[in-house]
Amino acid sequence: MHCVVVGGGLAGLASAVWLTEAGHRVTLLERRGSLGGRTISIPLAVVDDVPDNGQHVFASGYQHLMRYLDSVGTRDHVCFPGRMTIRMPGGATRRSGFGGLDGVRTAVGDLPGVRGLDKLRTARAQATLIRQALRQPSWLDEITADEWFRRIGMPQSARDALWDGIVIGLTGDKPDISSAKVPADLLVTGMRRARETRTPISIGYPTVDLDTLFLDGAEKVFADNGVEIRHRAVVSSVDVADGTVTGVTLADGEQVPADAVICAVPVWNVHGLLDQVPGHEEIYAAAEQLTPVPIVSVNLYLDRSIGMSDWGEVLHGGEGVLEQVWDRQRMHGRDASQNHFYSTTVSAAYELTHKTNAEITEIQMEMLRKYFPDARDAQVLHSHVVRMPKSTFAQRPGTAGIRPDQRTAVRGLALAGDWTRTDWTTTMEGACQSAARAVEVILEYANTPS
Ligand SMILES: Cc1cc2nc3c(=O)[nH]c(=O)nc-3n(C[C@H](O)[C@H](O)[C@H](O)COP(=O)(O)OP(=O)(O)OC[C@H]3O[C@@H](n4cnc5c(N)ncnc54)[C@H](O)[C@@H]3O)c2cc1C
Repeated sequence: MHCVVVGGGLAGLASAVWLTEAGHRVTLLERRGSLGGRTISIPLAVVDDVPDNGQHVFASGYQHLMRYLDSVGTRDHVCFPGRMTIRMPGGATRRSGFGGLDGVRTAVGDLPGVRGLDKLRTARAQATLIRQALRQPSWLDEITADEWFRRIGMPQSARDALWDGIVIGLTGDKPDISSAKVPADLLVTGMRRARETRTPISIGYPTVDLDTLFLDGAEKVFADNGVEIRHRAVVSSVDVADGTVTGVTLADGEQVPADAVICAVPVWNVHGLLDQVPGHEEIYAAAEQLTPVPIVSVNLYLDRSIGMSDWGEVLHGGEGVLEQVWDRQRMHGRDASQNHFYSTTVSAAYELTHKTNAEITEIQMEMLRKYFPDARDAQVLHSHVVRMPKSTFAQRPGTAGIRPDQRTAVRGLALAGDWTRTDWTTTMEGACQSAARAVEVILEYANTPS
C-alpha cells in the first residue's frame, strides 16, 4: 500500500518507520521545515552546542518508545541510573527512588521536610492512594488531584516533597487542574509495567541530543527504504469516499492520493482536518477539552560548576510548579572547559511563560543561587530561553475516556498522537504507543480482503 503519514513528531515518525518495516510505501508530510515535532534540538552557534527544546526524561515503562529506538538503532543512548535527587533550599540533598532502600523510606513517609506525626499520616495516605488507584472509586474523575490528596489526608509537607511534583511530572499539569484519575491510571500503568519487567519504576535520560536520539536513525531508515519526506506540506483535509480513505489535500490545494492514512497531528491542530470523517464532531469536542500546558526551559551556559550531586535534581517546594535542573556534563559526558551547561525546566509554567527572556533568566539564576551554594557567584555566559506554550495537554475532571481511539469509522484511516487513547498521558510513550496501535489498524486493513 501507499501510506501517507501526516505529522513528523514522534507519533508520525514511529508510524512511518513501522509501516516501512512492514513493507509498505510511505510518504511523510510535515508542515514545518524539519521533523521532530515537540522533541527537537536547537543548534546554538554562539556556544557551538546543540541543546534541546526542553529536557525529556523517560520512565522505565516506556516500552513502545524503546521499540522505536530499537527500530532506529539508538536504544543505547538512554541511561536509567535508578535514582534522582531532591534538593532543598540551602543545598541539602536527598536521594529519591522507588526501589531498594529509597523506596522503603518513601513508603513509610520518610520524605524530605516531612516530620513527626506527618510521616505516619503520609504513610497512611500513600497506602490509601495506591489502594484507590488500583480499585478506583467512581468519583475519581469528578475531582482534581488536589482534592484527592485532601480527601485521603496527604500532609502538605509530603505534597511539597513528592506528590505535587509526581502529579505535575506524570500528568503535565498542576494538581488543582488535573483530574485525580489521570495520576491514578498512570500509577497503575507504571506498577503493571514494573511487575511485567521485574524492575522498579525509575526515570532515565538521553545521553545525546534529541535529534541524534530520534531523528538521525529514522532519517537513515527513510533513506534506505525510499520513504518520501515532504517538509512544509500542510495538510488541510483527510479525504474520504464511500467510507474509505482516498488521500489528503494540502493547504495549497494539491491532492496526495493514498491507500491508507495515519493522521498524527497534535491535539491543537486536528480541527478541520477530519471534516469528512463520520464522528469527527466527537473527536473535535474531545480536542477542545484537552487544553495546552506551557513548559519553559532555559539552557544556561555558566562560567563555573554549580555543584550538582546528581544528573537531575528536583527542587523541593516548587509552589505549584515543578522545577528541575539537569546537569548536561554528567548526562552527555560533556567537556566543560569552555562553559558549564545546565538546563532548567519549569512545568505548568503559566505565569513564567509571559515574562521576558531576561526576566526568566534572572528568575532561574535566583533559583539556582537559592538551592546551590556554588551558584552564588556564577556568571551567565549565555542564556537560551525556550518557551513552549503548547507542550503538553491538561486533562481536567470529567475528561476520562474522551480521548479518541486510533481506529476511526473510515477504512484505511487511523489517528495517532499523544492525545489519542493510550495507557499513558501526554508523553513520548503515549505518542509511540498510539503509533503502534495506529499501525496495527492499518496493517489489519491491508490484510483484509476488500
Ligand atoms: C518542553 C517539553 C518537555 C517534555 N518533557 C517530556 C518528558 O520529559 N517525557 C515525556 O515522555 N514527554 C515529554 N514531553 C511531551 C512529549 O514531547 C510529547 O508528548 C510528544 O513528543 C508528542 O509527540 P506527537 O508526535 O504526538 O506530537 P508532536 O511532536 O507535536 O508532532 C506533531 C507534528 O505534526 C505536525 N503537524 C501539525 N499539523 C499538521 C498539518 N496540518 N499537516 C502536516 N503536519 C502537521 C507538527 O508540525 C508536528 O511536527 C515534553 C514536551 C515538551 C514540549
